[in-house]
Amino acid sequence: MNCNRILRLLLAFSISFFLITCQSSSPVSNAQTDAQSSSSAGNSGADCAKEPFTYDNGPLGQSHWCGACNLAISKLQAPININTKDAQIDGSLPSINFSGYKATKLVTSENVHTLKVDYKKGESSITIGKEQFKLVEFHFHRPSEEAINNHRTAMVIHLVHANADATAFVAISVLVEEGNSTPKTAALVNKLIQYFPPPDGLQNAPAGVDINAADLLPVGSYPENRNYFRYGGSLTTPACGENVTFYVLKTPVRFSAEQLKQFERHYPFPNARNIQNTNGRPVVQTK
Ligand SMILES: [Zn+2]
Repeated sequence: MNCNRILRLLLAFSISFFLITCQSSSPVSNAQTDAQSSSSAGNSGADCAKEPFTYDNGPLGQSHWCGACNLAISKLQAPININTKDAQIDGSLPSINFSGYKATKLVTSENVHTLKVDYKKGESSITIGKEQFKLVEFHFHRPSEEAINNHRTAMVIHLVHANADATAFVAISVLVEEGNSTPKTAALVNKLIQYFPPPDGLQNAPAGVDINAADLLPVGSYPENRNYFRYGGSLTTPACGENVTFYVLKTPVRFSAEQLKQFERHYPFPNARNIQNTNGRPVVQTK
């Protein structure tokens, strides 16, 4: 367990409790950044995305998340459980083309919940059908947020992409199970572990260290993947804006037991949002 991180979480909790007690709306600095690059996605704007929150049942817990997260009119919240037998097969679904993923300088950052790797606009992109989406960042959840037939995997990687005017987002979900990594995935994950941001929470941008997000893709996914589930959803952190299309790749990647343990040591608290009601929304899958 990382004492510094626990202390920081407790501090964040104390500060936010104080703010709530004072009925202040002043934003604080350590909100989950899953949503920061896409604050326009939230129904309640950027303020909500900056509020501190937790994954437990406390006063900042999931049932109190702001924005669209808990509104009765929100019908496309994520994550969901995917029942594979109910997911309609659609032979016309396009492939996801990852050939726009390029080597880029590693920049890690974090908040109290997870590791995030930031991308400059335009460094890497995907193409789905004829539409291009730029990679904004990727981050991790432990365990996976998505469930397949009620099973959550050890972790999930969310590769977050935005369209040209950042009004629509595509999250590629790569499920992570324990096992033997491919050499490329193992090398990239070891690099991330080596360059976890320091305990002060600042960015870590080591000189001369490049990564390629393609190394996190399952075998057989590069340059193209046409083996996924797709559903319309939301950001899974406040403000939970409902303009995210999820592509959950059917094939997982594998991290070693030691690599999973390193993530758990550094980020000891689970950060998976509860499974949300599908409200009858369709989930489709490739053949
Ligand atoms: Zn996420």
